[in-house]
Amino acid sequence: MIAEKMKPLLQNNSAIREMFEEGKRLAKIYGAENVYDFSLGNPNVPAPPEVDAAIRGILDEEESTFVHGYMSNSGYEDVREAIAQSLNARFGTAFHQGNILMTVGAASGMNVLFKTIINPGDEVIAFAPYFLEYGNYVRNYDGKLVVVPPNTADFQPDMKAFEALVGGKTKAVIINTPNNPTGVVYSDATLTAIAGVLTRKQQELGTDIVLVSDEPYRELAYDGVEVPYVTKYYANTVVCYSYSKSLSLPGERIGYLVIPDELKDSESVFAAATIANRVLGCVNAPSLMQRVVMRCLNAKANVAAYDRNRNLLYSALKEYGFNCIKPQGAFYLFVQSPEADEKAFCAVCKKHNILVVPGSSFACPGYVRISYCVSYEQIERSLPAFKAVAEEYGL
Ligand code: PLP
Repeated sequence: MIAEKMKPLLQNNSAIREMFEEGKRLAKIYGAENVYDFSLGNPNVPAPPEVDAAIRGILDEEESTFVHGYMSNSGYEDVREAIAQSLNARFGTAFHQGNILMTVGAASGMNVLFKTIINPGDEVIAFAPYFLEYGNYVRNYDGKLVVVPPNTADFQPDMKAFEALVGGKTKAVIINTPNNPTGVVYSDATLTAIAGVLTRKQQELGTDIVLVSDEPYRELAYDGVEVPYVTKYYANTVVCYSYSKSLSLPGERIGYLVIPDELKDSESVFAAATIANRVLGCVNAPSLMQRVVMRCLNAKANVAAYDRNRNLLYSALKEYGFNCIKPQGAFYLFVQSPEADEKAFCAVCKKHNILVVPGSSFACPGYVRISYCVSYEQIERSLPAFKAVAEEYGL
């Protein structure tokens, strides 16, 4: 019964989701407070109060058939215009509603984009470590994901390896900054270098290469680090934004694509992406949530809470002898495994009721990802367990 393309997905179900299920199982045995689940990137910071107020306000003030009705497949015009103007005010861009396509989160935004631009056999480049779903999204349209090996020195992209992999079949390159799973933010110099390679390659090869900026963590940056706006660096850029993390709304499924005027064939790409949104079955992004984000353009999740978690966990793990770089953004620590086989390390952690995700789930074995979007108290409670793991390894 199952289609051939689905069979590998059944066999390699997400390790992250499996860990999450394991966490629930352990919690039943040991009690939730004695299980330290760092597996899932599910924000624990509540949505800002503006969100609930907006929902109530919309239900009270706007007409029910309008709020719950269909609209253009690309989303409400007033919502798209408001988002465009908000981006312009923040980043000095010149977007208008014709550049903004409302999506069912970043996952859906990427699928809409790949449905729009990928022909069978086209290649899409990603930098390891990367969010493993990218491979599934690309394969949905019979494209091929090509992976730039990780640069474990600082997890900035390896530009030489990248340039060598850009070829005649390259249709798109995905970047994700702030990054899941490393927390690295690409600097102005990094983005300039990526744009330089792509501009040169487009000229040499006579092709068009789309830079896809996957940005669910844009608002989560610490220590005043700036997250540069990618459309300023390279014309053929599409931004894939999500409110899942920035407003702590992952279950509500709301985000947007920015398809700038500077993108080659921008208007027809926008028209095709609108149709892709429809024929993929999304039809349109959730109506109520579109109206909510329009009322919450300046609202922010409590980034300071994540920052507090980051500082506590990072300094404790360093003190215990673990090796990792300090993340500048997102809510993940990417820690080097004390033994080569990081899955064995995950098993040792699990013995101490600590759940972390193996780096091989991000195409970067030898490391594990720790999601610190949990309560501060969970981190405090988990520290003796991390210390015991470090002692077990003689760190
Ligand atoms: N891209 C990255 C790097 C992510 O980490 C996630 C979710 O964790 C997504 C995309 C999907 O986000 P959304 O909930 O908006 O679909």
